[in-house]
This record gives sequence, structure tokens and C-alpha cells, in this order.
Amino acid sequence: MKAGTAVARAAPPRAGGPKSDGLKGSTPHPSTPGPQRITAPTNGNPVREGPAVASTHFIRSRIGKICVAITGSTPNDMMRNAEEIVRENHFVEFRLDYLPNPLAIIPRLKQFLYERGEITAIATCRRAATGGKFKGTIPAELEILEKAAQAGCHLIDIELQTAEHTKPAQMKKLRSFGAALIISHHDYEATRNLDAVFDRILPFQPEFIKIVSTARTLADNVTMMRFLDSRRDEANIIGISMGEQGIISRVLGLRAGSVFTFAAAHAGEETGPGQIEARTLRETWRIDHIDASTKVYGVAGNPVRHSLSPLMHNIAFRRETVNGIFLPLQTTRLNDLLTLAREVPLHGLAITMPFKTDIIKHLAKTDVLSEKIGACNTVVRAQDGKLYGFNTDVAAVVRPLERRLPLRGAKVLVLGAGGAGRAAVFGLVEKGAEVFIWNRTAETAKKLARQAKAKTIRREQIIKSNFDVIINTTPVGMRGVKPASLLEPKELNTRLVFDLVYNPIDTPLIRMAREKGLPVITGVEMFVHQGARQFEIWTGKPAPEEEMLRVVIHALRQEAQKSDSSH
Ligand code: NAP
Repeated sequence: MKAGTAVARAAPPRAGGPKSDGLKGSTPHPSTPGPQRITAPTNGNPVREGPAVASTHFIRSRIGKICVAITGSTPNDMMRNAEEIVRENHFVEFRLDYLPNPLAIIPRLKQFLYERGEITAIATCRRAATGGKFKGTIPAELEILEKAAQAGCHLIDIELQTAEHTKPAQMKKLRSFGAALIISHHDYEATRNLDAVFDRILPFQPEFIKIVSTARTLADNVTMMRFLDSRRDEANIIGISMGEQGIISRVLGLRAGSVFTFAAAHAGEETGPGQIEARTLRETWRIDHIDASTKVYGVAGNPVRHSLSPLMHNIAFRRETVNGIFLPLQTTRLNDLLTLAREVPLHGLAITMPFKTDIIKHLAKTDVLSEKIGACNTVVRAQDGKLYGFNTDVAAVVRPLERRLPLRGAKVLVLGAGGAGRAAVFGLVEKGAEVFIWNRTAETAKKLARQAKAKTIRREQIIKSNFDVIINTTPVGMRGVKPASLLEPKELNTRLVFDLVYNPIDTPLIRMAREKGLPVITGVEMFVHQGARQFEIWTGKPAPEEEMLRVVIHALRQEAQKSDSSH
């Protein structure tokens, strides 16, 4: 048996009052003397058809795993958003604190919930002092929530700090309107003593306990999930860690014991840091399908916020019915990643900057290429539980080229000598190509040339030379930096141009080559290719490469459109 009293919903009370769901082993709080008799709202408006008394079990039976937050700066705005959001989501949270005058929306909310009986709604009016936007006092907050409960909201959310500053009689009154109570606590700084917060909330006997912390490390997600797992039998808990590093808890917290998670209606409308768009959670990440046997994968590095790997791999998992989830794992510390990998446990990793080299010493074994290059971009947990490393960047440079020309004896100019440059140079030399390296820092080019048995070339020699392929492995041309190309049109003395930069698809170098009538390979082809090989290593299945290419191109075009329209 779990938390709290049962809930009457806009109908006469059952004789003897509602049945308590109970808080396992809890002591009743002085302000909330156990199950109460609940009177029906007497608001004079048409009442909702349905059961007279709804318990937390009843609420849980109505809600899915995702609650979508609805915001808006005016009642019109908020109700317009609500109309749109409930087309796809039947469990929503009205963030009344986003309105300058929250009481103004109550009549429309009542009408809306009356007409839309399938909706389950939370009302929240979080005060600025506890991280919300409401500037009023605690009594004003309580009045708004009472009205929201009377209007038909099924749950009301108050902060622990509010509950602790509210007289028992007022709490009793708040609970008499039939809505289930969520008592929540937000820590905007860190993930600290979650048990202590839980123990402060427990005596109030709310139907739901919501504890939100901030993840400063990936390991903070583990703390949150361990907490959920250890207290899930004592109460209905919602547990989330905010921030970019807390995304894991928003998804995997559900299987650790969180009753539901919160999502943003759209990108840009997040009500908490790190919140994910509802459609992404449902359709791309397939949150409804996550169970105990779902294998967890991720792209690890800094930054990974804009990485397209989660989109590409989650779509591939969906397409090939792999029971897996692929998450962005943002961290600056390799030890943090390793803790997460061990504790979750993670089954596969796409490794990106800055860990491609450092990860190697933590792996049981790596393939010959990764060792030679000194970089690994793919980790898999094998059946023996150990982590093994591979490098799929090499094949992703070599294969698209091999499809177009024989590499043995081909003259290739590689611009750059960083991680991607090393993969290109080693891969091409191994295929018998004659490789010339130019790098901004000449010393690095020389070192790589020595290691890989390639040659270096000076900048002024490029214009006098002819190549079969010119490859850009530097970030020059990437979105976010001033559009540029390292070479001028007259220096493109080549049969083919390959730019590893994939965002934007049409880099200045690619455009320049096209203008000269030269065939090109874009970075997208490489990106999808290295991802497809990763998919195969992790799952043992052939990758749905066309589908992966399609979603990546679609996402990049959308991003380009957005950035064009914002300029
Ligand atoms: P990295 O290890 O940091 O290496 C960067 C290289 O670019 C270095 O050689 C650096 O020269 C050079 N460089 C940086 N800024 C430059 C500038 N303004 N002018 C001239 N040279 C410059 O980075 P990485 O991991 O190799 O990645 C490089 C690029 O490849 C990125 O844009 C990345 O997105 C892309 N990439 C694409 C794929 C794909 O799948 N399509 C895969 C991997 C990488 P110095 O030695 O002088 O610093």
C-alpha cells in the first residue's frame, strides 16, 4: 500500500469517505490526520461523469509515462497550447505560475477539463522562491490550487517548502477539493541527500512524492535511480535529475521506479533544464517500450548536446526492433562515464571528443586499428561483461572512397591531423594510397606522417600538385563558425572532394567543388557509415543504413532551415 488519501472527483462523496492508499510504514503528519472525508466541489457547474472517488490507483491507471508541461503567457495562449498538446498527450501539467494572473484561467480550465474527460491534469503554481514564476504569497498559491482542483484538475502540486509553511487546517482544506496531492522538492544546484528530502515529505502523506535534483555528473543519475529503487515500495515517487547530464534519469528513472516523467511540449518550451520534447521521448526514444531488458547505449563526450547519434541510433533500433535506447551522455570526466557504464550498465558507447584516446586504457581489448591510430570511437560490452573497443571512423572514410575509385596508388591530400585526420591517414595508407598531409601545426603533420608512413606537404605546394582526392578533416566549414574553406578554387586540383564536416551538409568546400564540377562526398555519408558499423557491432544485425541516412539528412535540413529563418 502506498501514499495518501483517495480522491473524490467532482461527484458526491462515498459514505464513510474514501479509502486510503496508505503510506507504507509512515507516521501521519500532524497537519494531515490520515484519510479524510472528501466533499464534492460545489462549483455549480456541470459535473464530470465517472467514479465518485478516485484513488491513486485510479489516477495511475489513467496516466501514461509522460506528463507534458503546458505553458503560456496569457490564458488564451495557454489554452491554445493545451488544445494542441492534448491531441497527442492525455496527461498534462498546467504551469499556472507562467500566467501573470493565474486565477483568470480557471473558468476556461474548468470548461476544458469538463469537455475533455480523457485528460488527466496536474495544476502547478510554483512560487519564484522555489524556482517557479509565481510572484504571490503562499496563501495566494493555495487559493489558486484550490480553484484549480475545483475546476477539475486531478492532481495539484505544491512544494515541500509551501507545505511546511501551511497550517494543518489549510492543508486539510486544500485536500478537501478532491484532487490528489503531489508534494515536490526541487534542488537546482545538485543531487544531494534524496532520502532526507523523502523523509521530510513522507509525513504529509501526499498521493505522490516528487523529488527533483540537478545532475552535475552522469553518476548523479545513478544516485537518483538507486534512490527510486530503494523507496519505490513506500510511496508513489516521481524522481528526476535536471540538467543536460540528468537526461538519463528522465528516461531510465521510470524503470527504477519513477511513476512518470515530465516532457516539454516542444523544443524551446522546456519548464526544467534538460527536459526533452514529448514527441522525441515517445517516438524516437520509445519510452513506453523501455523495460528491464532494454539495453542502454549512448554517445559520450563533450559536447554531445547537438549530436545526431541519438536520433540516428534510436531510429535504427526502432526499425530493426532492437530493444535498446540510445542516450546523449554529456560529461567532461572519463571516470564519470566509466561509473555510469558500470552501474547502469551500458551495453555500447559511441565515443567522441575528448575521450577517443583516453578510453583505450580502460578497455579489455581494442582492435588493431584503434591501437595503431590511438583512437577508439566504439565500445561494446561483450557477453563476458567486458568492454571492447573498435574504430569505425576508419572504415567510414575508406569505404565511401573505395566505392568511387581504387585506392591503391591513389594520390590523396588530407587536410588536418587531429583524430579524424589520423583515422583517414592510417586507413588510406593501409589501402595502398599515397597520402600527403597538410596541417595548420606542421609538427603534428610530420609526426603523423612518420607514424603512418605518409608524407607531408607545404601549403604553397598544394596549388602545384594534382590529387585524386582531397579530404578535409578539420572543423573548418562547420556550422557555428564563420563560413570558410581552407583552400581556394584554384587549389582544388583533384578528381574528388571529401569533406568530413557534416553540419551543414553543403559546406563552403563542398559548394566550391560543385561549382568546379567536381564530384563530392559529404560528411553525412561518413557519419552514417561510422554509425551503421557501430550498430552492427552492438547488435549483430545489418544496419538500416538508408533509414539512418534519411533521418540524419532530414534533421540537418530542418536545422539549416531554422538557422536560415533566424538570420
Ligand atoms: P580534432 O582532433 O580537434 O582535430 C582538428 C584538426 O583540425 C587539427 O588538425 C587542427 O589543427 C585542425 N584545425 C582546427 N581548426 C583549424 C583551423 N581554423 N584552420 C586549420 N586547421 C584547423 O578534431 P577531429 O575529431 O579530428 O574532428 C575534426 C572534424 O571532423 C570535425 O569537424 C568533426 O565534426 C569532423 N568529423 C566528422 C565525422 C563524420 O562522421 N563525418 C567523424 C569524425 C570527425 P592543429 O593541429 O593545428 O590544431
